[in-house]
Amino acid sequence: MKASSETPRFFPVEPLEGESLSHFLGRFRRANYLTATQLGKLTRIGAVISRWEKFYLNPFPTTQELEALAAVVEIKVDRLIEMLQPLGVTMKPRPIRLCGACYQESPYHRVEWQFKDVMVCDRHQLRLLTKCTNCETPFSIPADWVQGECPHCFLPFTTMAKRQKYR
Ligand SMILES: [Zn+2]
Ligand SMILES: [Zn+2]
Repeated sequence: MKASSETPRFFPVEPLEGESLSHFLGRFRRANYLTATQLGKLTRIGAVISRWEKFYLNPFPTTQELEALAAVVEIKVDRLIEMLQPLGVTMKPRPIRLCGACYQESPYHRVEWQFKDVMVCDRHQLRLLTKCTNCETPFSIPADWVQGECPHCFLPFTTMAKRQKYR
């Protein structure tokens, strides 16, 4: 067995169905009291972590980068790839989108909301929100979603579902 002194073990965080990498990274970091910079150092991929949290995922992450992250978060590379855009799909970093109805069912950011051509939640047939329905502040990156509320007026994401329009 390899000496484990230089390979610290972390509190494990399981990815959720359809969860975006940004949201997962935020959860993993908070569970382990890490900043994006610290996770960048641990994985030795540096600022790449912050870029991924902002959905700067074009060009697609390299296998080397994904393996470096996989080793620290202890999630298989294939599972990490499921948190990214499929082949042929473009990720759109901004605006961050939200289906409040999905968030009501399960509070996390779905990767497909950031696909360039996805404007509607297929599950609810509701148009995705791109800003707070009360004060119109854009949503922060999902890595920073802790309470699930507007960063400016604190309106809960779940309440915003009432203001979503049908497609
Ligand atoms: Zn939905
Ligand atoms: Zn607001």
